Parts: sequence; C-alpha cells; structure tokens
Amino acid sequence: MRLCRFNSNRLGIVEGEEVVDVTGALEVLPAARYPLPVHDLLIEHLDRVIERARALAPGGPRLPLGSVRLESPVANPSKIINAPVNYEAHIEEAKHDKVLAQGTAGRKTSFIGDWGLFLKANSALVGCGTEMRLRMPERRSDHEVELAVIIGRTANRVRREDALAHVAGYSIGLDMSVRGQEDRSFRKSIDTYAVLGPWLVTPDEVPDPNRLDLSLSVNGELRQSSNTSRMVFDVGRLIEYASAWYTLLPGDIILTGTPEGVGGVKPGDVIHARIERIGAFDMRVAGAYDG
Ligand code: MN
Repeated sequence: MRLCRFNSNRLGIVEGEEVVDVTGALEVLPAARYPLPVHDLLIEHLDRVIERARALAPGGPRLPLGSVRLESPVANPSKIINAPVNYEAHIEEAKHDKVLAQGTAGRKTSFIGDWGLFLKANSALVGCGTEMRLRMPERRSDHEVELAVIIGRTANRVRREDALAHVAGYSIGLDMSVRGQEDRSFRKSIDTYAVLGPWLVTPDEVPDPNRLDLSLSVNGELRQSSNTSRMVFDVGRLIEYASAWYTLLPGDIILTGTPEGVGGVKPGDVIHARIERIGAFDMRVAGAYDG
C-alpha cells in the first residue's frame, strides 16, 4: 500500500494517478494530550490505521494525484538518523571535490563504522509538495537522494537479521546539504533540507530494500543513478548500528546515505527523485528571499 499525507493533514491511499481520501481512518488513533509522546502516533498504530483505511477506501473521495499537495508521510519523527558515507563511489568523489571535501578534512578513515551516524533536526522535515528553500544563497547547497527507512516498532539493540521486522515502510529522502566545514547536523538541518516523499510504501511492496535503483535529476539532467545494493552498510546493518546507540521509536526515519553525483542546486531548479518500487516526485527549489 502507498499511504500519503496531503492538504493539511489529510490521509490518502495512492492508487495509480489518484489519491483516495481516507482521512476518517485517523479516528482510530488515541487522543493525545499534553505532554505529547515524542514518537509518531500514526506510525505506531499503522496496522489499525491501514485496516480502517481499507474499509473506508471504496466510499472515499478520489482526487487526481497531481492536484494534491503532498506532505511528509511521517509527521512527528523523534529523530532523523543519517548515514554519512555509505556508498564507495560517493566517498571517492568527495576526495576530488574541494568543496565537498571540506566536511571530511583531516579524517584518516572513510568507513561508516568509524564515522558513526548523524542527526538532522526534525524541524527541517517537509514533504515534496513544499518548495525547498535555499537559505545561504552564497553557499553551495547540494542534493543527496537516499532510500528512507521508516521505523515501525521500537527497536533497541536489534540484530541485523531481525531488523527488517521493525520497518513500517520506505520512502524517498533528500538529505539537502550546505557544503562547508561546519558540523554536519548544523549544515543539514536548515528548514526544508530534510525531504520525505512522495508517500510511505509498506514493506510487502518492497521485498528487498537492498536491491533498488535510485536516481535524481535536476531540470531533466541525470545527476545521480545507483542501486541500494552498493550501500556499505545495508538496511539491516544500519538499523542494527543505529539501535546499538539509540532506541529507535515508531516514526523514526533513517536516511541510508547517498550515491555519487551530488551537486549544487539554484533557485528555479526542479529536482526529480526516483526509487524503484517506491515512486518519484518533483520538487522546486526556491531562493532565500522568494515569495
Ligand atoms: Mn546524506
């Protein structure tokens, strides 16, 4: 199933080029009162929401996909976890790009197991129906297309072989990045610099997340094209690694790293991101002071 959030917190099932509005399924969620839980309630109760959504779908209003504004399929992750150097060819290109290399200067190793993971601020998160807004016009802002894993069940010190049972679904992530020598979390947490879209795809439609073509083009020009089989740490190992350090909660997002071909974008550009079995989206880049 492809489940989307759209038009100010409506819930939809995506079927072909249509969205079936099943917002009524959110009624199964417990009423939350202050202090609110830190994890995502919809993802925690995803099985019940999907069951109700299926029941509502035959009578649900159908809207053209192109007419809705898609929001992040996860509203309230407790954290956005990121893999920094997870494709060999991207590690290689970083050695030959002075601006890209600023973030890695002085490191004696390029192995993810030595680097660890990093976090992006939750406030950077947007869906693909929002414009990506550059904030530092004089600095280079790069696109990074990444398979996004959405955690479905609490995962604490899970083993790699048990890891995929903790996944609620998959999506496409853009780990947008200002280049420079500051700490990663600082440069990559700008508002709109964490994109999740176009929807959540349940694991039954993605039998092997470690074997998916992914690509990104800018204004129709192909920039990144690879396959998740080239990840240094695969999805199971990333969940094992991340959950060794933190408890993963329902709705937590893991951006699994970007392949080679990263590069800058400018206002007016249209980014097209695609991952096999998940889908694709277009996203406009806006300037720092537009609108
Ligand atoms: Mn990245």
